[in-house]
Amino acid sequence: MSGTAEMTDERCLSDLGGVGDVLRSLGTGSLMLVADRVAFQASGARDRLAPLLRDIPVVMFEDFDPNPKLDQLLVGLARYRSRPTDAVLAVGGGTAIDLAKLIAWSAPQSADVRELVSGRARTDRPALPLLAVPTTAGTGSEATQFAVLYVDGIKCSIDSPELLPRACVLDSALTATLPPSITAHTGLDALCQGIESLWSVAATDRSVGYAVEAIGLAWHHLEAAVRCPDSASRAAMCRASHLAGRAINLTRTTAPHAISYAFTSDHGVPHGQAVALTLGPLLVHNAGVTAADNQDPRGVESVRARIAMILDLLDCADAEQASREIDNFVRRLGCETRLSGWGISDRETIERIAGKVNPQRLGNNPRRVTHEQIVDLLESIV
Ligand SMILES: [Zn+2]
Repeated sequence: MSGTAEMTDERCLSDLGGVGDVLRSLGTGSLMLVADRVAFQASGARDRLAPLLRDIPVVMFEDFDPNPKLDQLLVGLARYRSRPTDAVLAVGGGTAIDLAKLIAWSAPQSADVRELVSGRARTDRPALPLLAVPTTAGTGSEATQFAVLYVDGIKCSIDSPELLPRACVLDSALTATLPPSITAHTGLDALCQGIESLWSVAATDRSVGYAVEAIGLAWHHLEAAVRCPDSASRAAMCRASHLAGRAINLTRTTAPHAISYAFTSDHGVPHGQAVALTLGPLLVHNAGVTAADNQDPRGVESVRARIAMILDLLDCADAEQASREIDNFVRRLGCETRLSGWGISDRETIERIAGKVNPQRLGNNPRRVTHEQIVDLLESIV
């Protein structure tokens, strides 16, 4: 199946208390609950959902750790097959939601999940209805039709309209107990996704609207959400994260995400932090776009206009200043801004990271980026 499915306001609940009504409207007689064990408890979702799910038989799946992996998906599918259910409920961060998406999508199919994930087989049945409840404000996964899956250490992105959740709950009270480091990492993902969507070659009027609002909210509220959280900053970050998700659902991500995956899979750098490492240098790179290396079919002026919007949102006069401000911002959140902080410093490791970048993802970037430029860029932030 091709095309893009989109989350709409009508399908976004703002209170976890509405879950019971949604499940009833879907005619749910039994439910698979895919939950991050720690977040499920700490967010308060376990206690708040218990009375709502009292009459529904629930199959639990919570045996997984950060960054969704194929063997964890296989365990989840085996759990589903031992007691098939009508619908799936995801509670947690990007990992829980992505695994739940993949289970809801692949469980009803006749083809093997490995064949589906690799694109060698197609779906022949509709996905199970999925309701996504994020407990972090970052990935926006509840608003996208993609799921990340690491297969043998290699990051795969599965992209299908059938992966979009049927509905989602954006209840910022669920993020109240997040540790500052997770608020910082996930919030940086939202900021990066907003900025990448805005400069993407696939940006549309609608994606630009989502991205502009997401960037403004994240830039002005993330530091408060990390350092002195209150309900206003948490609500702002939940909205930023969701809108950035809607934005990248239309445009896909670009160079900072493409470069980040080896930081995460090989060096354990949390996703949002990994993406933020190259955001500033790539803003400078993209601001230098010329007719010769522009990749946006609408022309170099269209790219420059959207880079100017980004600078405006960050309240900076030029890309170099914006890069310095992003660096300061990331540091104020308590995050690393240099690769050496993650043990990455030698040329061989940098070459290997640059060699793992998916060239297709770089095609979304407004200015061409060569392997040599990635190596130089990484060396500049050691
Ligand atoms: Zn991301």
